[in-house]
Amino acid sequence: MLKTKYARKHYEDLANRLPWQKEFLQSVLEVFQSIEPVLEEQPEIEQNGILQRMIEPDRQIQFRVAWLDDAEKVQINTGYRLEFNSAIGPYKGGLRFHPSVNQSILKFLGFEQVFKNALTGLWLGGGKGGSNFDPHGRSNSEIMRFCQAFMTELYHHIGQNKDVPAGDIGVGAREIGYMFGQYKRLANEFTGALTGKGVDFGGSYGRTEATGYGLCYFVEEVLNKLHGDSFAGKTVTVSGSGNVAIFAVEKAQALGAKVVTLSDSSGFVYDPNGIDLAEVKQIKLIRRGRISEYVDTHPKATYKADARVWEIPCDIALPCATQGELEIEDAKTLISNGVKVVGEGANGPSSLEAIDLLRDNDVIFCPGKAANAGGVAVSGLEMTQQSQRLPWTFNEVDERLQRIMREIAERSLTAAQTYNRGNDLLDGANIASFKRVTGAMIAQGVY
Ligand code: NDP
Repeated sequence: MLKTKYARKHYEDLANRLPWQKEFLQSVLEVFQSIEPVLEEQPEIEQNGILQRMIEPDRQIQFRVAWLDDAEKVQINTGYRLEFNSAIGPYKGGLRFHPSVNQSILKFLGFEQVFKNALTGLWLGGGKGGSNFDPHGRSNSEIMRFCQAFMTELYHHIGQNKDVPAGDIGVGAREIGYMFGQYKRLANEFTGALTGKGVDFGGSYGRTEATGYGLCYFVEEVLNKLHGDSFAGKTVTVSGSGNVAIFAVEKAQALGAKVVTLSDSSGFVYDPNGIDLAEVKQIKLIRRGRISEYVDTHPKATYKADARVWEIPCDIALPCATQGELEIEDAKTLISNGVKVVGEGANGPSSLEAIDLLRDNDVIFCPGKAANAGGVAVSGLEMTQQSQRLPWTFNEVDERLQRIMREIAERSLTAAQTYNRGNDLLDGANIASFKRVTGAMIAQGVY
């Protein structure tokens, strides 16, 4: 638990006030635990009320989204945008369309985003948004009408220097395209109010690949720095089969690893010969199908319903689906099977108990706020290119992404070592990013 009175007071106040916001409380507790040595060192943090300001979003917007389905029936969803912290730049963070979306999940994601964006070294504040809309089984026209209805309200609140949303679960290139089109019509201007756009209309090469590739660059860098090792020859398990998972598999394979699993919310596939990514892209990106279809063309692979990939032995585990998908029992299984690294592609996939157990057993734990920051980093690069009106090549973007991921690893390790936390990447990432945001908040005065 928390040792400093200041952190404990504000965590307990929050837990008493909002006991149902479990995801948010977990992420606040995780950050507060890491940054206690900074609180002891810098009394001005308490004097400036930084912790209580940080856990209260600058603004929380909630709105009705009314749209017509294909049967011309009126459908209603709830839309949200949480503008969390703009100390180091315009609010920046994804939009999620999933039935589980609620205030607590968005607060946890927005809070995480503040620190993640600070780690990139770019000028990006933190925010998050989305809707409880479920895109599964919806026609293309329904997706378009929903995106247009959602943006009809959201456009009042965003802008290239104000708040710049991107994609997340359920929001990929198609949805960003529809939302950008509606933003452009309503605002009557072509500006970079969204990232993840198509490369022909203000998007960046490499944005689609950025989170998955960045995750592998980060893990490769950390493996190299701490153990003089790499992905080459390793067995890797990946969960999820969306944007992050697919491009994590692609880069891990390119770096010489054998990836043996992928999953979705129904179950997972295990291919002992290594996942055939071309087939996965056909299923997921072209046909928008289910991962279970993989075994139709790969008879040596198996599909297991209602189960998690962590039961399959591996050297490196990459959770890339969603929050809460790696719990204490999963951590125990991974450890007994000899896992060396857990790298979070998803946001908040591991429970605090699972994280503690992994760290206690000398597993290298790469927290999402550092390891999956490649997506937002390339979104930041997309904003730069759009401001310059000058697109960069895929290789230029990819080189910058590699450099940013190396720097995030370096910043996290240096901060951990400076504050006597050894090579703990979670504490290091929290401390490095907290110090950057705190410095800016103090410099800008109380607001
Ligand atoms: P996608 O929508 O492209 O894919 C999500 C994947 O996760 C799907 O395979 C989905 O399966 C699976 N999934 C969702 N919910 C569950 C569940 N409850 N149990 C098991 N599997 C589930 O999303 P992304 O790949 O973009 O995002 C994945 C994660 O990465 C999220 O945590 C997101 O916040 C994080 N992230 C994404 C970034 C990006 O650039 N896209 C950037 C940084 C982090 P199904 O189809 O069955 O729902």
